[in-house]
Amino acid sequence: MPLELIVISLMRTSKWINVLMLNTPDEDKARQQSRRIDVSSNGIRWIERDFEQFTPLGNFFEINTNPEAGITVDKETNNATALKLSLVHINDAALDQQTVDVSIEELRLLLNESMACGLHCSNCYNELVTERRFSCIRPMPIHTMEPLKYFCPSNKLPTFLDEGELYYALNYIVISPKVLSKRVIQCGGHVHCARCLQLVGESLGEKVAVQLYVDTLWVAPGGRDELPEGRLEKLFGQLTVSQLMLHLLQDAVPISEDKTRLFLKTVRPDGQLHYMLLLVDTSQLHLLRSKLSLIEDLNVSSSQKDSFDDDDEETNEDCDSSTESSTESSSDSAFAAIETSDDDDSEPKAKRQRHSDSKPVHEVKVRGYRGCRINYHIFSSDEELAANTELIEQWRREGTPMLRISYMMMMDLLRELNVNELLVATLERIAPDEKEGHVSYIIYEPVEDI
Ligand SMILES: [Zn+2]
Repeated sequence: MPLELIVISLMRTSKWINVLMLNTPDEDKARQQSRRIDVSSNGIRWIERDFEQFTPLGNFFEINTNPEAGITVDKETNNATALKLSLVHINDAALDQQTVDVSIEELRLLLNESMACGLHCSNCYNELVTERRFSCIRPMPIHTMEPLKYFCPSNKLPTFLDEGELYYALNYIVISPKVLSKRVIQCGGHVHCARCLQLVGESLGEKVAVQLYVDTLWVAPGGRDELPEGRLEKLFGQLTVSQLMLHLLQDAVPISEDKTRLFLKTVRPDGQLHYMLLLVDTSQLHLLRSKLSLIEDLNVSSSQKDSFDDDDEETNEDCDSSTESSTESSSDSAFAAIETSDDDDSEPKAKRQRHSDSKPVHEVKVRGYRGCRINYHIFSSDEELAANTELIEQWRREGTPMLRISYMMMMDLLRELNVNELLVATLERIAPDEKEGHVSYIIYEPVEDI
């Protein structure tokens, strides 16, 4: 069956690529046996009995087809083939040019200076901030997961907030403690709802500032405002997972040149605590991906055939005696061929006929994306939290700031990581190891692709 999807991953600091090719499982054994994958220095060919699909990569890099460099082929399944290929050269400029750039967008807050509202506990609707207008609503002046260090630095004077000021970030707002109602309890730097005792924020210095978590607040609009009543997080524009990750990384403190840790916390609406520990490889991950269903293109008769025939001829010269994992060199370029068949029933003669066959060649176009590679742990029950106390304590001890995000954000992030984890496991040929956590990617996709 034809190639349905090709995904290629590359860490910009490495000189090799991982390739994953997916196809619909094939019931026809003969057809399955006639399939071959050819790797040449400028691309990868998926060769079926009646047609070929060629993914040209020569623009982006030169693949090393020297047998000594090694082409690693994973044991193929009925519908997936993974290859690891070393590269001779990477054309960074071409790669960047063909890559979608997703830049970080500013957070949007629907609340403005002319709107009056009260802030209540999202759990019991207890009023925490009485109805008022904020005359100065701004994003946080710096990117930080630790607003305490900004408002109350140890070596400088604190930044006292006026009653009308409100700063906002990913999942918190910072206001003056003077506007808090008497229905809160402050204890050991924590701010709780006095009625249901939900933790709603932290003090950033007595009389200086107070940080309230967006996901614990309910907005009660005042008077004639157009503001809808509901969770405060609804007043923030919804973030895609790409944007969420970009914001998290922007605020995070790197632990080395190419690694950053994110220690995320959330509380499920029923009160269950979740921790997510992410070790993010920030050296640029590049992904090249074809459209999702290449099979659709095959219904169109090949008008591209002619333009590829020349190129094809050269490859066919070497196809005659190619066998599994064997490599051969033509006069000007090395060439590797991988047979997907175990039986050698494809006669050289039959293959030679390909010269005269007018086998259509379909070009597979790939698009570039940036992203990051992540090793992560998720602890979402008391048992999991208790079993991993040591690791959690280690991250705390080593000074990784903990950021509370909303439950919705964590679930969005987890869903994306779960989906990509399956892809990465096949692509990178990773054996699952619970102790070492999960490995996945976040791929930065523009909104129009989602
Ligand atoms: Zn409450």
